[in-house]
Amino acid sequence: MRKTARNADSGDPQRDSVYRWEASHETWNVCTLSLEQCSELANRALKAAGCMPAAVIQGPSNRYSWNIPKLRIISMQGPSKKGRGGMNAATLLHEVAHQICFDRHRNRVKDHGPTFLAAYRELLINFGVMTAKEFSLTANKFRLRWR
Ligand SMILES: [Zn+2]
Repeated sequence: MRKTARNADSGDPQRDSVYRWEASHETWNVCTLSLEQCSELANRALKAAGCMPAAVIQGPSNRYSWNIPKLRIISMQGPSKKGRGGMNAATLLHEVAHQICFDRHRNRVKDHGPTFLAAYRELLINFGVMTAKEFSLTANKFRLRWR
């Protein structure tokens, strides 16, 4: 989710707004899925999008989740002592959306731009994390754009 350092000139102008929108969902920073469940959901979502599978691994609790699309690896932030972390459907689908965007567009779209967010939105809706209405209502509050 936050694989790059924060800086003003990242070439990814929507990134911080996406992070703030995600942070506004209290449960999106809680581990609710096992590694097997993360892997199963990721590959169900990739298959539905017509993409090849990816490997899902569990990373340390002090490292944010990430995806290296060329290598088809998704690392999920493992649980802290308090159960915080990235092993939940919303965070997993964020990383899956990066893989789908790379498979479709390579590096021609911004990491967290409108094309990414449209792919992420589809996943959140199709896999029951939120309704289209909930997405619009919350994303509009953060002035997010998707297409
Ligand atoms: Zn991301």
